[in-house]
Amino acid sequence: MTVPFYGHVKQYHNIKPEIDANMQEVLESGQYVMGPMLKRFEKEFADYHGMKHAVGVGNGTDALWLSFMALGIGPGDECITHPNTFFATAEAIWIAGATTVFVDSDPRTNCIDPSKIEAAVTAKTKAIVPVHLYGQCADMKAIRKIADQHKLLVIEDNAQGIGARGDGFKIGELSDAVCTSFIIQKNLGTFGDGGAVVTNNDQVDRHVRRLRNHGSEKRSCHSFGFNSRLDDLHAGILSAKLKHIDEWNELRRKHAARYSACLKDAQSITLPYEKPGYHHVFHLYVIETKRPEHRSQLLAFLNKNGIDAKCHYDIAIHQQEGYPWGKGARIAGSIANAERNAGCCISLPMFPELTAEEIDYAISKTLEWDRTVGQA
Ligand SMILES: *Cc1c(COP(=O)(O)O)cnc(C)c1O
Repeated sequence: MTVPFYGHVKQYHNIKPEIDANMQEVLESGQYVMGPMLKRFEKEFADYHGMKHAVGVGNGTDALWLSFMALGIGPGDECITHPNTFFATAEAIWIAGATTVFVDSDPRTNCIDPSKIEAAVTAKTKAIVPVHLYGQCADMKAIRKIADQHKLLVIEDNAQGIGARGDGFKIGELSDAVCTSFIIQKNLGTFGDGGAVVTNNDQVDRHVRRLRNHGSEKRSCHSFGFNSRLDDLHAGILSAKLKHIDEWNELRRKHAARYSACLKDAQSITLPYEKPGYHHVFHLYVIETKRPEHRSQLLAFLNKNGIDAKCHYDIAIHQQEGYPWGKGARIAGSIANAERNAGCCISLPMFPELTAEEIDYAISKTLEWDRTVGQA
């Protein structure tokens, strides 16, 4: 038996008439860039968040740095985030010309540890960039409190957490902008690249709209900008998929519950932690081996048995080649938890279309390794 890591084609087949109808509508309209389908999806996506504005852009990385730029973050400014996330979080800060300051992650959720932020704040600090890592919200209430005390901006990297909620807060409620990616691997993914900025701030909305379209608000009139738009074909695919996102996230939660119930007695791994009152949407189901030397063993064992497990992210950002990129980044304090996460993480297959047989097979092989190798 084999267990794939993704179910993109299965998902397409499940709602093919809806996706095909929207794509057909775009193709027949003759309007493929900044057309009516983009407008429609932007409205639906803003409504989904209960927010005023959503702006479709080229990808999630652009959503981040266009937001930074719209909020006036640039050279000389520092942005605080954590190093055990996808590379693009820091890359976007670097593109905006600011400096990334890495603090440690929470040992259980692996999201940024709010108690480590304050010590990293300097006169240059301009923003905090929490990531809703693996699909669980960062502790936005604590982050907002620190941001208010030090007059900092907060930009949420929500590439992984569409549909997630915190304990009494919603995504977008406690920040200046929310940045999303629609690359196919994400919970809401198109057949290619895409991204969006969601915000209640009229100025951010207006500025990102201008920046994504050659600095133009009116035909023939330009200030400096870029070209980073969400194409109407992608907007049509996303509009069809958005209607299913909550149902898909529920399936992810159900699969995660099954993994966790069956793996709870394994001796040599730790399981994902969902904070009380939080609604985790399990973009990824990430376990950790208790011993770092076990990670490659378990990963190889699963892969050898046809289970396409992966690592997110086995090389933390500060461990990447060329760090600190001409002093574009620095580390504040110990980042031991982030390094442990990078050294021990394994992502088991997780997507809505996983079957019970596939999950049970992945569980049985993980338990087999735990009994025969993991405990040795
Ligand atoms: C995927 C991802 C991004 C970047 O999105 P792209 O659409 O690939 O540019 C940024 N941050 C995080 C946490 C991501 O997972």
